[in-house]
Amino acid sequence: MRIGTVREIKNHEYRVGLTPESVRELVAHGHEVLVESGAGLGIGARDTDYAGAGATIVPDAAEVFGRADLLVKVKEPQAAERALLRPGQVLFTYLHLAPDPQQAADLLRSGVSAIAYETVTGAGRSLPLLKPMSQVAGRMSIQAGATALEKAHGGRGVLLGGVPGVLPGKVVVLGGGVVGFNAAQMAVGLGADVTVLDRDPEVLERLGIHFESRAKTRFANQANIAEVICEADLVIGAVLVPGASAPRLVTRGMLGCMKQGAVLVDVAIDQGGCFETSHPTTHDAPTFVVDGIVHYCVANMPGAVARTSTYALNNVTLPHALRIADASGGPGGWRAALRSDPHLAAGLNIHAGAITHGAVAEALGLEL
Ligand code: NAD
Repeated sequence: MRIGTVREIKNHEYRVGLTPESVRELVAHGHEVLVESGAGLGIGARDTDYAGAGATIVPDAAEVFGRADLLVKVKEPQAAERALLRPGQVLFTYLHLAPDPQQAADLLRSGVSAIAYETVTGAGRSLPLLKPMSQVAGRMSIQAGATALEKAHGGRGVLLGGVPGVLPGKVVVLGGGVVGFNAAQMAVGLGADVTVLDRDPEVLERLGIHFESRAKTRFANQANIAEVICEADLVIGAVLVPGASAPRLVTRGMLGCMKQGAVLVDVAIDQGGCFETSHPTTHDAPTFVVDGIVHYCVANMPGAVARTSTYALNNVTLPHALRIADASGGPGGWRAALRSDPHLAAGLNIHAGAITHGAVAEALGLEL
């Protein structure tokens, strides 16, 4: 199969669909890979790295879109890219179609088969192609919070790990899922005093077994949340109710008891945020202050660590890309890869001018 990857053109997107190492594996499976010149510069991968892995470097995206049978990207195709898509082509990337009817209409018109990373499923209703970005954001949240706690960034001047003779900072993590677990791991690693709250007893049990005495767990009711945030130096918002806006766990009134210069990192901001006072920010201006409390609410945290994020993403996308490409030479073509793997099939959002995913169709007000 001829596979292509291009330089991402969405504002401030530095990740890339395929690393040179992924290209090498695809080539080893007998596939041809086209890479737009400069596609990997955002992660420090040069054209020579891709060429050394067996890719053909082409001068522009139009040629990749024109010749590739399978396009592996990171972000949803932008309007200029959608105009280049061809019937019969397979697009494998994050799409997030539900809130984007214009993109859906363009993809339907283009005749592509679009497989969305975010709806590919795994065992136990998991979403394995979203998980690495939650891991990155969770780990980054402590880094971002530690920086915001510094005086020069408006924080109260607390070092999370403390030093011998001085107590460590207090970190509260609201939600103990993928983001929360990874945040707690980093905070524990720094030597902070860590408390994780969740509403799911199984999650609390898992956290208790994993962290033992290195982190405290508490049930996430209003009284417990109100109590722990008053003492906190850093609060991480990491809750998710699938398919819904994030619950507002901390109201503006509750900020009144907090220490001046304490920091809130609202990772759940992409679902509306779990602090009443949150609004989305960017990497250029990540924080703002409300009632003396520093807020960090960047909606695309993994973009700041594009290299780590790209490698983490490729670890989970490459096996699927290989399966699609390898099936293309056999009976039934690439579609056979979806027929034999219901988890990958769950990723198919659009095929030959029709929506093929129930939840996406429902969100767009369309029929399956
Ligand atoms: P997850 O499903 O793994 O974990 C969410 C946890 O929240 C679950 O354990 C759940 O029990 C808990 N929860 C739900 N309601 C709660 C409540 N009222 N009180 C306490 N706990 C509650 O989800 P995740 O992968 O950890 O993602 C968390 C959030 O981070 C999502 O909104 C996700 O979209 C977001 N996210 C943001 C970025 C970013 O760049 N800002 C990056 C990745 C993920």
